[in-house]
Order: sequence, then C-alpha cells, then structure tokens
Amino acid sequence: MTSGAADPASVLTIDRTAIAANWRLLAGRLKSGAQASAVVKADAYGLGAAKVAPALARAGCVDFFVATPEEGLELKPLLPQARLYVLEGPAPGAEGLFVEQGLIPVLNSANQVEAWLATSKGRFPSALHVDTGMNRLGLSLDDAKRLAPRLAKGSLVLAMSHLACSEEPNHPMNPAQLGRFRELLAELPGVRASLANSSGIFLGSDYHLDLVRPGAALYGVNPTPGAAQPMAQVVHLQGRILQVRDVDTPATVGYGATHAIGRKSRIATVAAGYADGYPRSLSGRGEGYLGGRAVPLVGRVSMDLITFDVTDADPHLARVGGFIDLIGPGNPVDAVAARAGTIGYEILTRLGRRYRRRYIGD
Ligand SMILES: *Cc1c(COP(=O)(O)O)cnc(C)c1O
Repeated sequence: MTSGAADPASVLTIDRTAIAANWRLLAGRLKSGAQASAVVKADAYGLGAAKVAPALARAGCVDFFVATPEEGLELKPLLPQARLYVLEGPAPGAEGLFVEQGLIPVLNSANQVEAWLATSKGRFPSALHVDTGMNRLGLSLDDAKRLAPRLAKGSLVLAMSHLACSEEPNHPMNPAQLGRFRELLAELPGVRASLANSSGIFLGSDYHLDLVRPGAALYGVNPTPGAAQPMAQVVHLQGRILQVRDVDTPATVGYGATHAIGRKSRIATVAAGYADGYPRSLSGRGEGYLGGRAVPLVGRVSMDLITFDVTDADPHLARVGGFIDLIGPGNPVDAVAARAGTIGYEILTRLGRRYRRRYIGD
C-alpha cells in the first residue's frame, strides 16, 4: 500500500533529534569522568534500533547494550565504532559466536564465566554482572569475588549491577545495592563500573560510577516519576479517523454494548486496536487529543479499531482522514500508561508494526 492522502493507516512519528538530545542531557548531568551508554534492547524499546542507535552514535555514544546476540548482530554493521554488550550473555555453546562477531558478553552466572574463560582464553572483552538485590540475573557477590580476578587478567572491561527500585529515590534498596556493589569494586581496581539505569542517574553522582545505562529516558519516559519530566517527548502516535458517524439515543457503541449514547453524538472510528499494542485496558477510559482538546475513548478497544466521542470537537478536525493523537503533547506516553494501568516501557515496546513509521530529525 502506498502512502498519501488515501492512506488509511495511523502514523507513528519517532523524533531522533529528541532521542539524541535526551542522551546529551543525561550525559551532561553526570559527574566528571562518568560516561553514558545507551540501552537499545528490544528494538530500542520498540522504536527501531537500526534507526535509533546510529543517531545515538552520532551524538557521541560509544557503549550500547542489547538483550540478545541477534539484537547485537543486527546493530553491528550500523555501529562500526561501538562497543556492543549483550545483556543475556552467551547461551551454552554460543561463546564462539561472541568471539567471532566481536560482541561483548555480559556474564551473569558462574557457569557463563567458566564457559567464557574456556573459549576466550582471556583474550576477548567481557562484562561481569553481579547481583546486588534484584535476584534476576547476575553472579552472587561471593561468586563474583571468586571469579572476577580470573577474568580481570585479560578481558574484564566492565563490572555492572542493576538497581531494583531506582525510580523511588528514598528507597533503602538503592544505597544497600550501591554498598554491596562497592564491595566488589574494591577488589577490581581499574575495571569500569556501571550501576545506574535511567532513574538511577537521578539518584545522585554516587550512582554514576564510570558508566550509566539509560534506556527508557532516552525514549521520553519520565525517569523521575512524580517530579517534572526532564526528557523531551520522542513519540507521536496519530490515530487515523476512518469514519465519523452521527448516532442518537437509544444506541450503544462497540463490543459488549458497553457505551450507551446519552445524547445526539458523533463517534469517530480510528485505525488502532489492541493488535497494534493499544491497550485493551483503555476500554471506556482512554483519551485522545484533537486540536489540543481531549476527546474520550468510548466503548471497548477492539483488535483493529477504537472509537472516540467527538461530539464537542471541531468538525473540521473530526473528519475522515484526520487524526486523533493517541500519544502526543496532551497525552504523553507516561499518561497513557498510567490510564492503562501499566508503565511507559510497556506502551513503547508494544507499539505496533501496522503504523506508518516516520523518523524525523538527525
Ligand atoms: C533495561 C536495562 C537498563 C535500562 O533501564 P531503563 O530503566 O530503561 O533506563 C539498564 N540495565 C539493565 C541491566 C537493563 O536490563
């Protein structure tokens, strides 16, 4: 299908200038000597790693984190100067692939360390992930202390840990995790250290160490929930209006007949649904923006379609082919997530493949 006036698809605009500006803003907050990487796992949180990561590299980013080797291999030709860390590390038997392809494994268990040492013979770079309280991935502190010196001989380029509660600045887990991590770092002089994700950067310079690992904040999610949003908005999702219909009582809208029309109304049907990652939990409670004013989502979110009550909207805007902001200046990603009962991360990573994607800037 070609794009143009008759294109019925909704439009997802991703602002790469804003992503680069967000990276610079975070890098500029760091204590002197600390550097910012970029986490571009899960296709850069759904925004398109192949389009986003090169813009970050042009902004000055050198260290990139992906989740899987496949994600690393996709980016490698696009980021010839970068260090690409793979958070999952090698599956048993995949160590050779990391060596051949120049991917840096994040080693998360004693078994991964042993297998890596056997293959790499200390001649290729690796990162060590120590668990300080998340209990998800990472070596225990004792295993890390025991094994790190063997890695450190040739190849250990980064020691890292991950914060469980960084978006809660007063949570006691934060200083507790920092303290445990420092115990390991004391035994690894000269190895770069990394602890903070997006929100961790805002816990203060103690948490910056040598390298920070922001993801969500780069893509416009507020790293300081409850306080003013420091990041620029990156995503603009415009839902295309497919039909506008006049309805009067008695009538209902959508599956389950959950929305009863209470007055003469105009209903706009928009091309997005839960198959596009628009949460079904927004049924009867979502909100779009049309010409700077909120319009309520009425009825259920269905697979491909949603419906808005545009009775009070400007009819020149509420027309077939026009757009209702599903994510935009009036309803940024965090606000949409809060209404849906989730977090901005999930809204971004589920953005659908049927939207026309436009990359602007950079
Ligand atoms: C996803 C991830 C990050 C990035 O976290 P954000 O909250 O998105 O900034 C950093 N480190 C690790 C280990 C991660 O898995």
